[in-house]
Amino acid sequence: MKKPFVTKEQIEEIVKTYPTPFHIYDEKGIRENARKLKEAFSWNKGFREYFAVKATPNPFIINILKEEGCGVDCSSLTELMLSEALDLKGSDIMFSSNVTPAEEYVKAKELGAYINLDDYTHIDFLDEVAGIPETICCRYNPGGVFSLGTHIMDNPGDAKYGMTKEQMKDAYKKLMAKGAKHFGIHSFLASNTVDNTYYPTLAKILFELAVWLKNETGAHISFINLSGGVGIPYTPDKEPNDIMVIGEGVRKAYEEVLVPAGMGDVAIFTELGRFMLAPYGALITKAIHEKHIYKEYIGVDACAANLMRPAMYGAYHHITVLGKENEPCDHKYDVTGSLCENNDKFAVDRMLPKIDMGDYLNIHDAGAHGFSMGYNYNGRLRSAELLLEEDGQVKMIRRAETPKDYFATFDFCDILKNMKY
Ligand SMILES: *Cc1c(COP(=O)(O)O)cnc(C)c1O
Repeated sequence: MKKPFVTKEQIEEIVKTYPTPFHIYDEKGIRENARKLKEAFSWNKGFREYFAVKATPNPFIINILKEEGCGVDCSSLTELMLSEALDLKGSDIMFSSNVTPAEEYVKAKELGAYINLDDYTHIDFLDEVAGIPETICCRYNPGGVFSLGTHIMDNPGDAKYGMTKEQMKDAYKKLMAKGAKHFGIHSFLASNTVDNTYYPTLAKILFELAVWLKNETGAHISFINLSGGVGIPYTPDKEPNDIMVIGEGVRKAYEEVLVPAGMGDVAIFTELGRFMLAPYGALITKAIHEKHIYKEYIGVDACAANLMRPAMYGAYHHITVLGKENEPCDHKYDVTGSLCENNDKFAVDRMLPKIDMGDYLNIHDAGAHGFSMGYNYNGRLRSAELLLEEDGQVKMIRRAETPKDYFATFDFCDILKNMKY
């Protein structure tokens, strides 16, 4: 059973001020989860979570995580700018980018961020545009397929990211020759894993690589970044990850591989997005149309522009009809948005309670890669983001877009001077 963190009564209050659709986040859930992650890795002195900003690039959310001790993982100029504005700098920032424009390396270097190089050729590129910092990270791609037991999780051999093992060695040597003194290793091998063995398995691979790199190059390795990929159960039948078990699994690998190699001072970093935020955000939308043709449709006031994952990946997002939590799910619906795109469906053939016009639907697990993937197709506007604070108050943390925002990029000329806002 997935339980919404808001009730129908709360939403009925909120919509008096903020009309649907909107994203709402649960501050209490965010903080409790961040604290649990920290506890799970408290055995490691240098541990730090660098929140993947792209998952939920909202300054209020990032400030909450900052208060919980998190840094940020950025991969673009605007994400760096956002971090800088929140007074995150230096070792607060991992810059894990790829296909990086020169100006972004310049900005990352200026902020003193940990720069994570995606490729061997980026060494010269970075050196030319910004210079090589004293501490630098390289991203590893082991190639082949990545499996946990018999279950294939992902295909690193097909992924555009990272360097081969030999390139990692050559990169370290080259970087040392250019003055780098401390090194990081980063790798992201599988996305949205709901399996407590992902991080420990990845950790063992990276720890062994670290020992090898140290022996081959003499480099001082100061951190290993396990990156993102710890997932959440989008479907109600799955068990969530147990972060305490995950932390303990990583500790075991650390004791087994790094400590005997005299590398017991290596800091562990994570770069989680989904795990930090997805369950603590919901998209709230109202049923505004029903349609009975070859199938039963419920039309809602949100669309894929507000939450793209179902349209883009066919991703499942659980839906609760607020106030009908205990009613039988005896109606089969497609729940759709208004885009002129047939894949604009939040749910297909979903069994739900009977939906009446005006009902509020809670679309679960929209807190990461939700709002942030939003777009403006069909002239649809991005919604507001709200925060359910720990004391139960609701605060707007981003206003909804207006038509004026949508047309703002024509403000260099007067072709829309007759626009009636
Ligand atoms: C997207 C991304 C993350 C976060 O991934 P999640 O699946 O949200 O945990 C972390 N690091 C990098 C480099 C990423 O691109």
